[in-house]
Amino acid sequence: MVRNADNAVLHSRPFREIVGHLLDGKVWVVANFDPPVIAHAVSMQIEVPREVILRDYVYRPYVEVDRTTREKILRRDRHLCGYCGLHANTWDHVMPQSRGGGNTWFNCIAACGPCNWDKGDRTPEEAGLRLLWEPYRPAWA
Ligand SMILES: [Zn+2]
Repeated sequence: MVRNADNAVLHSRPFREIVGHLLDGKVWVVANFDPPVIAHAVSMQIEVPREVILRDYVYRPYVEVDRTTREKILRRDRHLCGYCGLHANTWDHVMPQSRGGGNTWFNCIAACGPCNWDKGDRTPEEAGLRLLWEPYRPAWA
């Protein structure tokens, strides 16, 4: 298993790639197999890690599985505006779609009309808005 620098689990990677990262010093081992699993290469032996963490954050491109819809975002956020906490009936893209933000769990938040209108094509920072919670992917998604 490979975890990103923020501890999010990335999909499992081929063993060969993980060993390559290990040798390059790009990952830290956070768990080993018990009993240890030793890989034999031509000139060396290496213990195969069960879990490693990437030392540097890896950009995760938006993938199909992360896509969501307005209805699902409103359900996740229980129809509460992520900017002011009042009743929400729209959804907002934290990074605006016009600037590459996608319809993903991590980029969308429920919003009331006034906050959504006020934010427009800006990031929350630019609009002087603060997210009341970080967008996340719910367990049921
Ligand atoms: Zn609002």
